[in-house]
Amino acid sequence: MAVRPHWLFGDQLGPHFVDHRHHGPDARAPLIMIESWAVLRRRRFHRAKAHLVLSAMRHRAAELGDRVRYVRARTYREGLAEAAGRDPVTVCQPTSHAALGLVESLEQVQVLPARGFLTPRDAFAAWAGDTRGRTRMEDFYRWVRREHELLMDGDQPAGGRWNLDRENREPPPRGARTLGAPDPWRPQEDEIDDGVRHDLDRWEREGKVSFVGRDGPRRFPATRREALASLRHFIAHRLPWFGPYEDAMLAADPVLGHSLLSAPLNLGLLHPAECVDRAERAWRAGDAPLNSVEGFVRQIAGWREYVWGLYWWFGPQYRGLNALGHTTPPPRWFLDLDADAVTARCLRHVLAQVRDTGWTHHIPRLMVLGSRALQDGWDPAAVTDWFHRCFVDGYDWVMLPNVVGMSQYADGGLMTTKPYTSAGAYIDRMSDLCGPCAYRPGDRTGERACPYTVGYWSFLHRHRDRLSGNHRMTRAVRGLDRLADLPELLAAARARGDAPP
Ligand code: FAD
Repeated sequence: MAVRPHWLFGDQLGPHFVDHRHHGPDARAPLIMIESWAVLRRRRFHRAKAHLVLSAMRHRAAELGDRVRYVRARTYREGLAEAAGRDPVTVCQPTSHAALGLVESLEQVQVLPARGFLTPRDAFAAWAGDTRGRTRMEDFYRWVRREHELLMDGDQPAGGRWNLDRENREPPPRGARTLGAPDPWRPQEDEIDDGVRHDLDRWEREGKVSFVGRDGPRRFPATRREALASLRHFIAHRLPWFGPYEDAMLAADPVLGHSLLSAPLNLGLLHPAECVDRAERAWRAGDAPLNSVEGFVRQIAGWREYVWGLYWWFGPQYRGLNALGHTTPPPRWFLDLDADAVTARCLRHVLAQVRDTGWTHHIPRLMVLGSRALQDGWDPAAVTDWFHRCFVDGYDWVMLPNVVGMSQYADGGLMTTKPYTSAGAYIDRMSDLCGPCAYRPGDRTGERACPYTVGYWSFLHRHRDRLSGNHRMTRAVRGLDRLADLPELLAAARARGDAPP
């Protein structure tokens, strides 16, 4: 019998998607890749993201040579018809509800199990089903550690504790402009990148697509070889710096000890197992401290797997949740990444970083960008769409729980136990971003009132009834009663409207 062709999506680019062991396609299967420009047209993506995905797909096709049929088409449907006619094909389960719906609607397509994660969907569902609605990340993380024997000594966590978070929340070293960690690994562009840039320019000129943000030079791996080089560099040189300053922000050192591995992981160029195994080996060899290694394992085997599992567990309706009733459209300056319009130094700096690179680490995403949206009551679906379009590592499965749940509390607490937002004092403590800002984190009223401080109290005031029932928020909500200047603060917040803060 002829071997069926196997279809690779643009985020299924690593060897584990074409490896026939573990339910993969037949090793001799011819491969199909489809570059659909309806996908690029549908949304206004960051140009660096479009560049990275196209570059990675074209690099993969070049490596696979004659084994792959690479089709450029308007839609996936049309591309598949061109590549395979009506012949049967296989595909590993795609990573979004929409793409899964599409492949399931095509009679000729047989869907194989998803790859690229530690936790199969049915295993997550079995775990979540046992929690009686309390699907908390910490419980999931311990379960994964046990299941995969990660950082375990027998049945106990290595070092005796599951969670070293307390050691991993240090503010930046006082007076330091940078952490002083070795520079992150960066790729060299090649002629495939030139070709991608040329195509993007042409499509923009012809009005076929429109992008936000600046493109280049490419900053993230586009091939398996580059992804492995980046992982090796991180483990050998930067892992020790990862832990303590995970939550810190420095204007002159935006990456700090972070790994920059989300983009290659989400393109399928790396498998999470190899990342956490290498980190654990570094600790066992005495080359990295436990707090950094545990923090890294928690991010990849904990948070990333948890978010993947929740995406399928919560289902497609999760996208539309809006527990706080936030309906304001995000303002133009935010949608256009117009950092120069912003006065608040932290937001200006972070928005410029997104504009220039399509990446920031998790605290600027959560406590600067997401917090601004939450405080100002922006529509969570529009905020999710913005994050998806503007980040090089943004995909539907990872954005939905992170933005709808974690950042915007639009699920009313299904994912997190409280909304994540803060007054300017948190940003001041965890960064050097406030310093010469025109606003002062401690000021609630007056010309120099910090927009995050004003926004925080306005948010608590607006949702007082709901939040006072949450024991993790009770103290914060009671704080409103001590604010003699609350009416003035609320009036100033209203007057500000959606002008850049
Ligand atoms: P590191 O700090 O070095 O962490 C190591 C790895 O852990 C990351 O590469 C990533 O693969 C994984 N990880 C850690 N936290 C998460 C998480 N919450 N969800 C999924 N993976 C996680 N991550 C994405 O990959 N894509 C996104 O679109 C995305 N959107 C986010 C939006 C918001 C509002 C927030 C708060 C977080 C989001 N994250 C997203 C998670 C996290 O911010 C990024 O994974 C991380 O900043 C990427 O940088 P890094 O590779 O240097 O990560």
